[in-house]
Amino acid sequence: SVVERLADPYPGPIPFSVEFFPPRDAEAEARLWRTARTFERMNPAFVSMTYGAGGTTRDRTVRIAGELATETTLLTVAHLTAVNHSIEEIRGLVGAYADKGITNLLALRGDPPGDPLGEWVKHPQGVQYAEELVTLINELGDFHTGVASFPEGHHRSPNLAADTGNLVRKLRAGAEYSVTQVFFDVEDFLRLRDRLVAADPEQGAKPLIPGLMPITSLATARRMTELSGSKIPAEVESRLAKAAGDGPDENRAQVRAVGIDLCTEMSERLISEGVPCLHFCSLNFAKATSEVLERIGIDTRGALVGA
Ligand code: FAD
Repeated sequence: SVVERLADPYPGPIPFSVEFFPPRDAEAEARLWRTARTFERMNPAFVSMTYGAGGTTRDRTVRIAGELATETTLLTVAHLTAVNHSIEEIRGLVGAYADKGITNLLALRGDPPGDPLGEWVKHPQGVQYAEELVTLINELGDFHTGVASFPEGHHRSPNLAADTGNLVRKLRAGAEYSVTQVFFDVEDFLRLRDRLVAADPEQGAKPLIPGLMPITSLATARRMTELSGSKIPAEVESRLAKAAGDGPDENRAQVRAVGIDLCTEMSERLISEGVPCLHFCSLNFAKATSEVLERIGIDTRGALVGA
């Protein structure tokens, strides 16, 4: 399981993990495989595959996550959402993952398809909150579940205390760890960790894994944070904007260099704060994340030879 992997003796400065998303077509799938093989040589603690809203993407997601789990040495975590699913369908999906040897699942409510910030409508035979999903999955067998956490608070939570309360409930329901939304201000992460430990020391002892993303395009970073209701701190934005020049990505190479600097600085700070793992949203590319990993002292040589 993820938690067991994090407890294993690790040769480098810190365990890391990588997030993929389901590729849209054959070409994107080939790239995902190259990326996965590159990371495989760097021995990540786990990789995870996000879960989309559309029907055909969903079938492909299950197939590809299953192939990652069976054809590579990567511990594969499958994300699973409650969007447009009845409880029966969720049971079927969990079973389909189990058939492929995937027993590590990240239980998420998901966002309304189309407009992630729009109104959430529960499937009439479905579940309302991720907490129920954790319970449902754990009733189905010997699964290991993780959940989402939010350094800036989830955009639907009325305040940070309520948001922390929800995380505590999900962990008490049986989630073994949480992975945070991507953030760009380490202080937000540290405050979440403090809130969680203060709210429930036992649940606060479970791994709280920071979600990171090396920014390689200012436009993409802005869009991503808008969609998730989070923010880029003014100081980070101004460093990136200065590198970008006149347009948001006028000078791509410099934006990328600053993005990698920022992610490296955040990683180093988080390591010094004793986090259990660094989770990188790779967007299915290996290069930017590998550069950060190399700079924080993870042995990427095996990977670079074949990259
Ligand atoms: P929940 O924990 O259910 O919380 C949703 C909201 O409801 C929160 O505001 C919470 O405070 C509130 N709430 C919960 N319980 C109660 C209650 N009993 N009473 C009142 N309010 C309550 N989305 C995808 O579609 N696919 C993915 O693969 C995916 N992967 C993700 C991975 C990570 C690491 C993260 C951080 C997010 C991911 N998301 C993904 C996005 C996620 O689905 C959304 O952020 C979603 O809006 C919240 O999901 P959740 O599981 O945190 O929901």
